[in-house]
Amino acid sequence: MKLSDKPLSAKEIAAGIKNKTFSATEIVRNSLSRIDKLDGDIHAFLAVTGDQALLRAKEIDEMVSKGEDPGILAGVPIGIKDNICTRKVATTCGSKILNEWKPPYDATVIEKLRSQGAIVVGKTNMDEFAMGSSTEHSAFGPTRNPHNINCVPGGSSGGSAASVASGMVPLALGSDTGGSIRQPAAFCGVVGLKPTYGLVSRYGLVAFASSLDQIGPFSRNVEDSVLLSNAIMGHDPLDSTSLDIETPPIKIDIDKGVKGLRIGIISEFLEGISPEISKAIELACKYLEEGGGQIESCSVPSVRQSLSAYYLIAPAEASSNLARFDGVRFGMRVDGKNAEEMMVNTRTAGFGNEVKRRIMLGTYALSAGYYDAYYGSAQKLRTLVIRDFKSAYQKFDVLLSPTTPTTAFEIGAKVDDPLTMYLSDVCTIPTNLAGHPAISVPFGHDSKGLPIGLQVLAPALKDNLTLRVAKYLESAVEKANV
Ligand code: GLN
Repeated sequence: MKLSDKPLSAKEIAAGIKNKTFSATEIVRNSLSRIDKLDGDIHAFLAVTGDQALLRAKEIDEMVSKGEDPGILAGVPIGIKDNICTRKVATTCGSKILNEWKPPYDATVIEKLRSQGAIVVGKTNMDEFAMGSSTEHSAFGPTRNPHNINCVPGGSSGGSAASVASGMVPLALGSDTGGSIRQPAAFCGVVGLKPTYGLVSRYGLVAFASSLDQIGPFSRNVEDSVLLSNAIMGHDPLDSTSLDIETPPIKIDIDKGVKGLRIGIISEFLEGISPEISKAIELACKYLEEGGGQIESCSVPSVRQSLSAYYLIAPAEASSNLARFDGVRFGMRVDGKNAEEMMVNTRTAGFGNEVKRRIMLGTYALSAGYYDAYYGSAQKLRTLVIRDFKSAYQKFDVLLSPTTPTTAFEIGAKVDDPLTMYLSDVCTIPTNLAGHPAISVPFGHDSKGLPIGLQVLAPALKDNLTLRVAKYLESAVEKANV
């Protein structure tokens, strides 16, 4: 059969393969040819694993013809952020220092995806070691926004967001330490979920800031986000921070609407945002009220200091995590007269400027004499954030905010101004400090045709609720055709 031009959703693909409307091989060929056609301009992928993907597709097709069930993602092509380990396939983290490094094992999420029939078609571009908000800090060149190739796709998971937005793949995985799934999802007009910390195993995710990092799904609609979440969540003894609970598979109660839900609009996040995004929030409130939601403004005071606390905690953890790239254990080596000089030469040549900035910031914040003033204060602020959210959730079931203060900016606009770049994540960072789930869902476009994303936040383990409200907003927007 001829595959239609409108990209199919993951759900449609899995169903079509299982009922033999089309084969996994056709689907993978289609995905590879779209990558071939579009990725020259967009550069969402750092590596395309076409041969492996076609071999796996053949296996899936054989299973189907024997009457076996390949899983909930049967034959669905997926892009994987390049900081998630894939056995024998280069995993660069967007860095020269890891160029050529091939992990000897698969991350837990990769194993889970395989066991549900998904097919990895390639590794996606990212800011080096996930530090950035535009994918311009990739050592292999930027990714471009499919809605306007002069704009950034957001970051750090910009390749994953762009690969899904351009229809090269229906699904992708990213990682979110301070907004790296939600911010690019908003910029590219796709759905991006940061799950509750501990719901998705971090085993095989190259660590940036371990107490904040979380893997999560990108998709073109909320239903597909549910599908991919269900495939990757679950306890993993290989990750000591993985929650040992019976994971509530994300239920299909996401169609229940918002009737009776108490929804708080985070007042601090309405300051300083673009007028078009303010309008989107107003419109969302109107729709939510029409659906029976109770809307009220809600203050979460400590979110104002969250960005400052994040830029101490995340670099502090990064400075320790990145110590392992020393020219001995992984990746590249630049020789020197002795071991110390070799390490200095390797790290000087291998890391980009943003990564060096973070390592210096983190090392400074942790140094004797400054530890309490910087790292200690940041940790106290983190406790306040958790407390403020707790009291907000006594009054509200979910909170709503813009995902980003602006829509996608132009390539080059912020790359030389780190502070302005950091401000792109002001609305997303507090959730990581608290360990809570939050989703970005597309909600119309600005006057330049660039997507706007709204963020739905909920308490720990209420990932389901974020998806349910997102699903309502998605349908409201579809009906209104904004
Ligand atoms: N942009 C933020 C940073 O650079 C968040 C990155 C992320 O979530 N990985 O730290």
